[in-house]
Amino acid sequence: MQIIEIYRSIQGESSFAGIPCTFVRLAACNLRCVWCDSEYTFTGGKKMSTEQVEEEVARLAPAGLVEITGGEPMLQERELVPMMERLLARGYTLLLETSGERELERVPQAVHKIVDVKCPGSGEGETFRISNLQALTPRDEIKFVLADRTDYEFARDFTRQHELESKVHSVIFSPAFLKNPSAQRDSSNCQLDPRALAEWILQDGLNVRLGLQIHKFIWEPATKGV
Ligand code: SF4
Repeated sequence: MQIIEIYRSIQGESSFAGIPCTFVRLAACNLRCVWCDSEYTFTGGKKMSTEQVEEEVARLAPAGLVEITGGEPMLQERELVPMMERLLARGYTLLLETSGERELERVPQAVHKIVDVKCPGSGEGETFRISNLQALTPRDEIKFVLADRTDYEFARDFTRQHELESKVHSVIFSPAFLKNPSAQRDSSNCQLDPRALAEWILQDGLNVRLGLQIHKFIWEPATKGV
């Protein structure tokens, strides 16, 4: 596998936010979201066998939460799927962060998939693979990263049209972060003001989760490997 980094930190997103977690970050992505904060994953990384990855995960923590992220992890599906099955068999709780563009039907059912639906402001709107709606389970989470009101309305309408609130564990509406954030650990680095987003969610009566990337409030937003 081509791996960027494996490290231990606090989960910053999803309904697992705040919980200690081991992150396995895979290299490469086939999308180019304008607000991407992981461009350092697009090239490079080091070759590791799945056994080496599993050993490193076990060394960092013998149990608990593991997130597979990227880049786009499903680009390495052939090795990743059997590795996820082995990590599940060892008793880990597994999260998979994915762009929603790759096919997800072969992901083991016990994995908590956190699936993006790219909004127009990402520059990668229309990339969501609609057949992935069939692969969702009640433990999964759908995430919309929002840069502005247009993105919010897209996410609201998509959520309603596909009845996502009743299909998955969480529907997450998360403000995009500025591409070049300041060192401030506050919402001044959000492209979309979380207060405006909160008011829109309440006005529209949505049963969604307002997601803040809490690692960007704990550490300086540009810090990598946290
Ligand atoms: S899918 Fe994720 S890693 Fe790929 S460009 Fe978009 S935000 Fe970056």
